Amino acid sequence: MKVKEYTVPELSEYIESLRSLYDIVRLVAPESCRVIELDHDCYAFGKKCFGCWERSERCRTCTSAMALKTSVAQGKVVIKKSSQFSVYSVPVRLRGANDVVFPCVIEMVTTHRNSIPVTYTDDRQDTLIVPAGAAVQDSAAGTEQFTAARIDPLTGLPSWAEFCQTTRDIFIRSPSEPRVIVMTDIWKFGLVNELFGIESGNAILRGMADALRDSGLMYETICRRGSDHFIMCFKSGDYIESRLCDILQKLSSMFTESVCRIFLQAGVYRAHDLTMPLSSMCDRAKLALNAIKEKTKVMVSEFDQDMLDRLVHEQHVLSSFRPDLEAGEFQVYLQPQVDREGAIKGAEALVRWIKPDGTIVPPDSFIGILERSCLISDLDRMVWDLAAGYLAAWKNIAGKDFYISVNISPLDFFHIDVLAYFEHLVRKYGIDKKSLHLEITESFMMSDTEKQLRIADRLMEAGWILEIDDFGKGYSSLGELKDLNFNTLKIDKSFIDETENQERSRAILESVFDMTKKLRMEVITEGVERKEQVERLSAMGCKTFQGYYFDRPLPVPDFISKYLSPDA
Ligand code: C2E
Ligand code: MG
Ligand code: MG
Repeated sequence: MKVKEYTVPELSEYIESLRSLYDIVRLVAPESCRVIELDHDCYAFGKKCFGCWERSERCRTCTSAMALKTSVAQGKVVIKKSSQFSVYSVPVRLRGANDVVFPCVIEMVTTHRNSIPVTYTDDRQDTLIVPAGAAVQDSAAGTEQFTAARIDPLTGLPSWAEFCQTTRDIFIRSPSEPRVIVMTDIWKFGLVNELFGIESGNAILRGMADALRDSGLMYETICRRGSDHFIMCFKSGDYIESRLCDILQKLSSMFTESVCRIFLQAGVYRAHDLTMPLSSMCDRAKLALNAIKEKTKVMVSEFDQDMLDRLVHEQHVLSSFRPDLEAGEFQVYLQPQVDREGAIKGAEALVRWIKPDGTIVPPDSFIGILERSCLISDLDRMVWDLAAGYLAAWKNIAGKDFYISVNISPLDFFHIDVLAYFEHLVRKYGIDKKSLHLEITESFMMSDTEKQLRIADRLMEAGWILEIDDFGKGYSSLGELKDLNFNTLKIDKSFIDETENQERSRAILESVFDMTKKLRMEVITEGVERKEQVERLSAMGCKTFQGYYFDRPLPVPDFISKYLSPDA
């Protein structure tokens, strides 16, 4: 925004005109922390610009200093001695004697209704008195810049600053009434802008603002924040989820003809403690929103404490991952893969995060986080390296067909050359590549078949043993399996649990075994916990088992003494 320049008489006149609109209007020079006194064509630096600011925030974080720094009007609600008032600071440039121009700020203060009169006193007893019972002023009557601070120019809705002020005001008036904060989001709005142009995006935002205004939703306050978030504050009793869903549905189809079909979602936070900062309430509504971002069938999501706990956990994982990896807190456990008699064939390497106090963090609680933040390949490479090292070290104590299977995250393929890395491990440790089996999940193999097929083919052509992990957990169809090039199918625990339709899962399992036999593939069943499962699966043709019935994942020294030592 271009900061306007005034001569002394012009600014003097301008400030006079504002005096009827606000309780206090003054010109300040935040840099020197002084009030500037104007008198026709003279100006003078007067008393310190105290007033509504606490000593600690004077001119460092106060709105006047911010306005000066950013050249944009700033607003702030201040609560002091049980009174609440709003301060707006608009940057201007004052051209003084000899055409010397210096930046300063017009500060406008309004006390809120129901506030008791306030006396601002500075250290030198200069006193400004706010008139008793002064009314809240109409924002539209302010200056151009001032209005811009209160109104979102694109939609005409209140700005975030204005929303904060009015919502806080409402909270102060009825602090015991719980509120509901709703934040809406247009799914992949950036894409709309990119595909249809900014103007189309703006048209959607304006249309949405109008529609929300006319929606009949009984919000107390509303604003637009960020590019495509609309935030509403409801009295708890006035918020009806089904009504919100109806409106979101209606809005979603509103732009189909003019621009495109959009998809709207909303995050909801029920605020019982109104002393919590409004921005934290909105953060929680946003967290609820983020929880459904990838679920396009869900429209509304309410914040719950688990979401915050998950966020805290995620932050913890991200901040401690690298130092803990370097500190050796990530260790490999080995879970035996055995025949029906329990004789060892190989093992799966499963990572464990072992904290200094001995707490073991299971992989399911951090693998996904590391995948989302592109850190997973650092961990996987460490696990693969250790596994290859064990194979090299155990050449003489393990059987010649002994193998270790390692998990490959689908994300690894995006960040590193997986094939080249395994080839490097074979050279580094002098191991047979047939002894290091590679597990790739079924969901990855099925997600983008063409591309995945090429990856699988390259690994197979290079002589690696490829296993499809978690078969049956996802959505694979047996038909697709025949197109995939791999050696072993690992049937997921959920497939053999038979929790629902026993007959049906048996029939499917039998056809899986039939098909793998025809395609000459190996089968490993995971999660075997009971003797009768081993018997039933053996009858179907299964020769390799992994599960608690035989053993749990073990620390390496335990694995060695139980399975690889001469008296094992
Ligand atoms: P997965 O690769 O399917 O590993 C099998 C999981 O099933 C392991 O869980 C294992 O402890 C568990 N399991 C084995 N037998 C039984 C049983 O009889 N009953 C039950 N209830 N569970 C059994 P874990 O170790 O917690 O690993 C979970 C998943 O985390 C793994 O599933 C794998 O997808 C991932 N993961 C583990 N380690 C790594 C790793 O180093 N890299 C990557 N990318 N992922 C890993
Ligand atoms: Mg696995
Ligand atoms: Mg598995």
